Amino acid sequence: MPVPTPLHTIDILHKTRDGIQLDAREIGFLVTGAASGSIPLEQLSAWLMAAWLRGLSLDEIRALTLAMRDSGEKFSPARLGKVAVDKHSTGGVGDKTSFLVAPIAAACGVVVPMISGRALGHSGGTLDKLEAIPGYRTALTLEEFEAVLTRCGASIVSQTPALVPADRVLYSLRDRTATVESPGLICASILSKKLAAGLNALVLDVKTGSGAFLRKMEDTEYLASLMVTTAEAAGTRTVALLTDMSQPLGHAAGNWIELVESVELLRGKRPAESEDLRELSLILAGWMIHLGGQATTAEAGYARAEAAIADGSALKVFFAMIEAQGGDISVFDLAAAFHKPGATQVLNAWESGYISAMDTTQIGWAVQRTGAGREKAGEPVDPHAGIDFHARRGARVQKGQPIATLYATCAELMPEPIALLKEAITFSNSPPSAVPLVSRIFTRESAEEYLRNVVR
Ligand code: URA
Repeated sequence: MPVPTPLHTIDILHKTRDGIQLDAREIGFLVTGAASGSIPLEQLSAWLMAAWLRGLSLDEIRALTLAMRDSGEKFSPARLGKVAVDKHSTGGVGDKTSFLVAPIAAACGVVVPMISGRALGHSGGTLDKLEAIPGYRTALTLEEFEAVLTRCGASIVSQTPALVPADRVLYSLRDRTATVESPGLICASILSKKLAAGLNALVLDVKTGSGAFLRKMEDTEYLASLMVTTAEAAGTRTVALLTDMSQPLGHAAGNWIELVESVELLRGKRPAESEDLRELSLILAGWMIHLGGQATTAEAGYARAEAAIADGSALKVFFAMIEAQGGDISVFDLAAAFHKPGATQVLNAWESGYISAMDTTQIGWAVQRTGAGREKAGEPVDPHAGIDFHARRGARVQKGQPIATLYATCAELMPEPIALLKEAITFSNSPPSAVPLVSRIFTRESAEEYLRNVVR
């Protein structure tokens, strides 16, 4: 057998810098070096910037995703005896669909091993929200994760240190080197973690609009089709839905207040106030149930999802999961008394008219500045901080009418989020045009076709 020629990081850097495609062995060398620490951070940073500027080919993105998936330990849901399905959203403000779709899909017969992230930048984090429940543990071992899944059908946990260690290094470098917004790097980062969880099927919720991670529609479509084809090539049935983030999803954006909104919906209460959240959750759960083999179509899955809310089975799964992870569910019966923000302030409309635009990224920063998010990785968040919106895009409001209630860690923090909201919300004399909640769906076939025709 011929001995493979040794690889050198500097040669790989020259190639990517000059637009020469790397092969799977070279990509594997980089990823192993990132995970083990054998490649210095300055060389990894240089490669990331070269990849960001030059772009990566489809083959390179696939190789990068698989090498990252295989860089650490993996979870195998095979022993659970059910089809394992998850949902991933590409960030957002007020996006609490995980608390609805995970228990709904589990109540309908699939198993949902959900490994989630924390708030960073303008986006909220599922783990920070769950940790607002007294006692809830997000850092389970893989054995504990499996035990909760066996008992409840759904579990929402944090990434273990040994799962996809290459992403931990590369993501943190990207965050510090302005190389986050690259479709290929995002695809490999997100999918490596999802594929390491051993999923049979995956539903991707790719955000569009003013709160989306990638602002240009063509980048969003490219990312969605890239993720669908890459996950499908790795053996996971996948669809991507392009969904609206031109305003916060539902009425609450924060930590505890988002959980309260989710439990109210699972209890069938106040559906009109959270119509977009309920509808999107049912659509996403419908796809999860369908891809998980529990409904012949996504529409039939939607009907099953609705029934799981109506008969209380989804709420039962959610509460069982919280208790199995050490959380105290009694707080949901005392939700108002439990909510103890340091300061509360109502924001009234400063003009009469229609709410014509909400810059949702800016609104996300306003939520973060109440104390609900973090400035740097590792900082604590305030579970009771956040913003409750009383009016949505398109609503007609009178000057002086309450449009939001802000909950901050202390009164001194209030001026900044209020100023940000005043910049973010625009009024006009005529209603804005409606934006569809789901603008496009990519299945394997449509994603492949998109990639065949796109010029990048
Ligand atoms: N979320 C991730 O996990 N990775 C990215 O690159 C972007 C969002």
